[in-house]
Amino acid sequence: MTIPLVDLKAQYAGIQPEIDAAIQRVVNNTAFILGKEVAEFEKNFAAFCRVPHCVGTDSGTAALHLALLVLGVKPGDEVITTTHTFIATSEVISLIGAKPVFVDIDPRTYNLDPNLIERAITPRTRAIIPVHLYGQPAEMDPILEIARRHDLRVIEDAAQAHGAEYRGRRAGTMGDIACFSFYPGKNLGAYGDAGALVTNDAALADHARMLRDHGRSEKYAHKLVGYGYRLDALQAAILGAKLPHLDAWNARRRAIAECYDELLTNSDVITPYVPPHVTPVYHIYCIRHKNRDALQKQLKAHGIDTGIHYPIPLHLQPVYQNLGYKIGDFPHTEQAASEILSLPMYPELTDEQVRQIVDAIKEVK
Ligand SMILES: *Cc1c(COP(=O)(O)O)cnc(C)c1O
Repeated sequence: MTIPLVDLKAQYAGIQPEIDAAIQRVVNNTAFILGKEVAEFEKNFAAFCRVPHCVGTDSGTAALHLALLVLGVKPGDEVITTTHTFIATSEVISLIGAKPVFVDIDPRTYNLDPNLIERAITPRTRAIIPVHLYGQPAEMDPILEIARRHDLRVIEDAAQAHGAEYRGRRAGTMGDIACFSFYPGKNLGAYGDAGALVTNDAALADHARMLRDHGRSEKYAHKLVGYGYRLDALQAAILGAKLPHLDAWNARRRAIAECYDELLTNSDVITPYVPPHVTPVYHIYCIRHKNRDALQKQLKAHGIDTGIHYPIPLHLQPVYQNLGYKIGDFPHTEQAASEILSLPMYPELTDEQVRQIVDAIKEVK
């Protein structure tokens, strides 16, 4: 029996009647673009995040792009973010003509180290994008304090952190805007591409809502040059069917993580560090091992899939050569990139499978 990294078939099997009914409902009434399904999901996802406003988009990347636009980030501005994330986080900064300025991680949490942010601030800095990597919230209080002191906007990249909490506040409620991805493998996943931004600010939400739909205020009255970034009604219906399960799925992910943690004590593996004031949702369960490549090979031989999130830090990506970074600039990220390994993690994973994975891990020295 093989164990995949993520098992979307197992999830569908558990909720098939609800998903099928949602799809059929949209097909029956043929309201495929925006409309009631999208508005309903936006309302429910905002409530889930405990924020007043949600704007659905066709991807998490689109949500990040809109966030920078409505916060007024302009060509030539600088935006500070972590070098240890998926490229979409910084891609949108570049897309606007602004400059990504990378900062190293705290090696224990893999999140942006707040102590390194201030030295990266220049007169051109406009915003900070902390990423709640692997579903664990970044250290938001010091980040928000630095932003306040320097008059910077904060965009939470919450693409991996639906439902995670920091000092009792949900991911998505702390910055000026937060962006979520509903890529199929995310904790809340669509059956295709989808995303959303959430905010406490009605004016920012209205602006983003207009920009995502060709800058229009009425059907053929266009006030702004906008984008085709709408959330698809079919995806909204599917997401709406899944949303009531999300808290239970996240709780199961935490139980699986606890099982891994316990079975891996006194092994050669470093398990995730979770500060006491944080409740993660384990989009990814990431371990560290000195002999990572051998470990990955060994697990593969046992039919166990693993991943590396992410093998090449953003400051060393070919596309960012022009930014002038070099090997050694962000040592914590670079070392992590060579030692991290993501183990199978999805709510339907059984305790028995976790034991099987850990047994295979313990064979590697
Ligand atoms: C998935 C992801 C994104 C992009 O989301 P898409 O929906 O794939 O566009 C952005 N940032 C992070 C950290 C992600 O994991």
